[in-house]
Amino acid sequence: MRARTLLATAVMMAAFGALARQPVDTGHGGAVATISHHASLAAMEILNAGGNAIDAAVAAAATLGVTDPFSCGIGGGGFMLIYSAKDRRVIAVDHREVAPASFHPGVFLNADGSAMDWKAAVPNGLSVGVPGTVRGWHEALTRYGTMGFEQVLAPAIRVAEEGFEVGPNFHRINTANEAKFARFSTASALYLQDSKALPVGSLHRNPELAQTYRDIARGGVKAFYEGPIAASMVAAVNHPPANPGVEVIPGSLTMADLKDYEARLRQPVRSSYRGYEILGMPTPSSGGIAIAQALNIMESFDLSGKSRAEIEHLYLEASRLAFADRNAYVADEAFTDVPFEGLLSKDYARERARLISATAAPGKVEQGDPYAFQNDLSVPLRPTPRPLAQESMHTTHLAVSDREGNIVAYTFTIEDWGGSGIVVPGRGFLLNNELTDFDFSAPHPNVPEAFKRPRSSMSPTIVLKDGAPAFTIGSPGGSTIITTALQTIVNHIDLGMSLADALAAPRMSQRNGDTTLVETLLPFPGSEQARALEAMGHQWRETEQIGAANGIRFNADGTVTAVSEPLRHGGGSAIVQKH
Ligand code: GLU
Repeated sequence: MRARTLLATAVMMAAFGALARQPVDTGHGGAVATISHHASLAAMEILNAGGNAIDAAVAAAATLGVTDPFSCGIGGGGFMLIYSAKDRRVIAVDHREVAPASFHPGVFLNADGSAMDWKAAVPNGLSVGVPGTVRGWHEALTRYGTMGFEQVLAPAIRVAEEGFEVGPNFHRINTANEAKFARFSTASALYLQDSKALPVGSLHRNPELAQTYRDIARGGVKAFYEGPIAASMVAAVNHPPANPGVEVIPGSLTMADLKDYEARLRQPVRSSYRGYEILGMPTPSSGGIAIAQALNIMESFDLSGKSRAEIEHLYLEASRLAFADRNAYVADEAFTDVPFEGLLSKDYARERARLISATAAPGKVEQGDPYAFQNDLSVPLRPTPRPLAQESMHTTHLAVSDREGNIVAYTFTIEDWGGSGIVVPGRGFLLNNELTDFDFSAPHPNVPEAFKRPRSSMSPTIVLKDGAPAFTIGSPGGSTIITTALQTIVNHIDLGMSLADALAAPRMSQRNGDTTLVETLLPFPGSEQARALEAMGHQWRETEQIGAANGIRFNADGTVTAVSEPLRHGGGSAIVQKH
């Protein structure tokens, strides 16, 4: 049996022989870019079978749930932006996790009223939000797709069943999670060998996840949100499968929380930038608003004659200002009055831009007053300034387009690497810790509340020019998601780099901090580029890598170029149908 399935894989790989893993590919027809070659192949298989971009995106996402289980999966949630070629419209499918009915502003407070330590809050039932992914896939497929779960989950089921080789990147993240997985019997069994991460080169199979996908393929969305799978999630959250001697804080999730979960179809955030139309993710993500606001601030400068360093300085400072507002004002719009009109106003951006000088701001800046640009009688909320809350840098993003011109930009996550660390017994998937994306203490628009969606940074973005798709971009990376998407847009539009170069360039992330986060993976520190910015007062804090972006460029000659990471996250996979 085993030999037969391995042979089937070999035959399939030979059939895709021309589709070697590479981070850039150009051609005609559908295109896909993901961080996992298995996932890109899954999308291609569906496109070649006549599926559209939505079908292929779900196929890729389900496969990423197998090959990148620490970043994403059916135990989490996400945001899918869809460009429907027929309607010439963009729609956002919000399937962010939601807080259960039992939630309240005090859940992440210690007995003395202080906020819990963020890291300590993560690996518990308490941090698990109602997963939205399966409902999101269902909404996307039934409204915009052409295939059902049975077809689109088939490639992922095959990979989960037959297994895949553990690579260095999987191993790296697995190693970082050893302590978290050691807390839970189910995670230890699936992801540890003798208390250590699975070794590089070993074959990793997940038959329980294959079976869960089969149950969803057969029973549809209800199979996940009602019945035995739902019951096992409720049990895992309320009575976590802790190893002996480990103390885990349970959550309080009910079957009704799961049954009542809804994905929301939302209008995207729409803005313009130097003749391009930028479509981004609305709340509960802060991504679309922050990117639009930062670009509006950038747009108030004439860039002609400016050097690369001067343009990058503006990018960093515009991002700093946008983050000050994002941290103060943006949360789930069902629970808080987000001053959209002011935040997105070009006049407000011009006012904010006046705060930018020729040198870096000496540290944090304060939020502005977008209410003054609301064109109504809104009363300013006068928020208390907040530093950037703790967020992880994980998640995954994928991009797919098809021959008809439909596009999917899709970011989805289980929050921290390995989420809560709780693998649902018998089901083979990790539950998220998305509820730690709330600000732990009130007053704040993003305070924990029942039925609320925690604020996100996920930023799937689709860019149009003259009404037609120009490119799409998105990335993982917690709050650096916003700066990665923003910097790639600036690199491409303002610095004239190809989308591939724009994505591969060293990343800098300024999120209203005293220092700017930069990568050590690429030759940035000590470079000429770094020195030019240091001369303007910028200071760096190093991290290994920022984001793992994927995108597609729609070229003027009718071809498309799929673009993924050459190095970050072990390198991605971009494939275009050639015919
Ligand atoms: N929870 C984060 C968000 O929604 C994503 C997690 C990450 O990228 O690390 O923005």
